[in-house]
Amino acid sequence: MNKLKSCFLSAVFALMLQAPLFAQGTVVDYYGQLSVKGNYIMSQYGDTVQLRGMSLFWSQWMGQYYTPEAIKWLRDDWKCTVVRAAMGVESGGYLTNPDAEKAKVIKVVDAAIALGIYVIIDYHSHEAHTNPEPAKKFFSEMAEKYGKYPNVFYEIYNEPLKEPNWSKDLKPYADTIIKAIRQYDPDNIVIVGTRQWSQMVNEAAQDKIKDPNTVYTLHYYATTHRKWLRDEAKRAMDNGIALFVSEYGTCEASGDGKLEYKETQLWYDFMDKYKISWCNWSVADKEETSAALKPGASGTGGWTDEQITESGKVVKKELLLKNTPIFALQRKPVKKAKAPKENKKK
Ligand code: MG
Repeated sequence: MNKLKSCFLSAVFALMLQAPLFAQGTVVDYYGQLSVKGNYIMSQYGDTVQLRGMSLFWSQWMGQYYTPEAIKWLRDDWKCTVVRAAMGVESGGYLTNPDAEKAKVIKVVDAAIALGIYVIIDYHSHEAHTNPEPAKKFFSEMAEKYGKYPNVFYEIYNEPLKEPNWSKDLKPYADTIIKAIRQYDPDNIVIVGTRQWSQMVNEAAQDKIKDPNTVYTLHYYATTHRKWLRDEAKRAMDNGIALFVSEYGTCEASGDGKLEYKETQLWYDFMDKYKISWCNWSVADKEETSAALKPGASGTGGWTDEQITESGKVVKKELLLKNTPIFALQRKPVKKAKAPKENKKK
């Protein structure tokens, strides 16, 4: 090898070692602090934002995936731009073991901040409005701790059941929790659940929460919830609210049963059309259709194709297809307008 060539190669090698210095920015670098405008989540720079990622499973039952390594794997191998920490509240969750369940959420949120992706702190409950005090305490703490980070969303009530009334029960609960959050964090987006497992978004659209940085969660399970729910979502958007599908499945509402490819695709088309962000249910190795992983998949990522279920494969394919470009984006510094040249001839 001649000297010139070897010099050139060592220069290339040295540059490769330096690569992290030139690494692409993260999705949070790119979009920054989010806010809500009409039907859309907006970036700090005026883009409409559509995030796509995975929801973890109930923390008290699948705590093994609440690790920084799993979150890093979801970012790097699955191209997630958002993850959702679903902290179980009842059934042996936060109400029984507040410190242990909160610690799992903190681990995930800290990892997401370090990795530069968005994260949803989800109060995973079906009856939160009947007992708002623990939620108030939890979200006050979270807002005080994380309000300064653009990464964080607060999802204050996963899925209210059919019976409560939006205006009389659910909205007052949301107002109470949002007030607790806003003591510490004036701006990060709050995701509000609606009646009937977060399907009755149009009820909320007709009696909106006053806080401007609020979106409403819409949940669907593709085999069970079809066009009528997309129509309901469209009506809600026509009435001026923004939606976030913080949870959906490719299968039946039970989380199990038949995986419906065609409906799953129709939902993807719908969410892309209206720039609705989403998280898929769920990162779990439970033996059910909606679980993305097969029994025994590691809590620290590194999942091979053989360890990913049919649903996991459908969702991962969509993530790779749609999210990859964001990692290639770098926001160019805004060029300042050139000052007009002085006329030196004067
Ligand atoms: Mg903030």
